[in-house]
Amino acid sequence: MNPKWNGQFSCFDLVAKTDVCSRSVVRVRDLDVGGAAFVVMAGPCAVESETQLLQTAEAVARAGARMLRGGAYKPRSSPYAFQGLGMEGLKLLRKARRETGLAIVTEVMSEEDVELIAEYADLMQVGTRSMENYALLEALGQCGKPVLLKRGMTATIEDLMRSAQVIAMAGNPGIILCERGIRTFETATRNTLDIAAVPVLKAVSHLPVIVDPSHAAGVRSLVPVLARAATVVGADGLLVEVHPCPEQALSDGNQSLTFAEFRRMMTDLQPYLELQQAARELRPQLLAAGGAD
Ligand code: PEP
Ligand code: MN
Repeated sequence: MNPKWNGQFSCFDLVAKTDVCSRSVVRVRDLDVGGAAFVVMAGPCAVESETQLLQTAEAVARAGARMLRGGAYKPRSSPYAFQGLGMEGLKLLRKARRETGLAIVTEVMSEEDVELIAEYADLMQVGTRSMENYALLEALGQCGKPVLLKRGMTATIEDLMRSAQVIAMAGNPGIILCERGIRTFETATRNTLDIAAVPVLKAVSHLPVIVDPSHAAGVRSLVPVLARAATVVGADGLLVEVHPCPEQALSDGNQSLTFAEFRRMMTDLQPYLELQQAARELRPQLLAAGGAD
């Protein structure tokens, strides 16, 4: 390990990796994130209607997703954009879980909403704009549900680790980190997917790490190839936007996959996931044979 990382992150003792600690597996409803299985969370950017959500939930479940994403409370860059259905959206997410068995991940924007959203969500999402909202992070410490912590768009890996430590110190060890692209000088993509953040986070932290290729790319044509990159660098899962009719989506239609595109992406990922799996199984043998770690 780069010795610099050790010194840099050891102060975040609850989330930093040490030579002796084992990797955390975060239990979300009946799923393990960070264990042997690669967990795909998929669904619309925002919950828009019952038909939109239920159709999407069924389609992504059939294609192999294990969790349904969908914002009921939406943080938007523009105050004029669709802000989400709020409470009604939460109820629709609960209905979709009942009908499909998918676990629910949805965003919580404010500490006042934590209790309410924890009644509906299986995984509490902290968005990029909230990563340094310490009042929210502290409230999530006592919410009784695991947290998906998205990297702030201008946050360093150290900043992300600090926010994870705040949640853990407040009493919640169930944290999944998410790389979703950062703001750089590059404007051809919506954000710049920092693919190196995945192996770095896995080296410096024991927490599971997933990738959101949708918000990184900003355009749907790039989503499958970025998802493939995520599997190859050892991510534990994906967060992907899917919509029945992306051209009519109330938010992030450009980066949302159609059902067919999502199915194709899931099929195309299979050989890469099998390679990853084989590499993981090979690892203990290499170590036993004195191979490189
Ligand atoms: C989202 O995943 O719904 C979202 C708003 O993403 P981000 O916070 O990464 O922009
Ligand atoms: Mn979105």
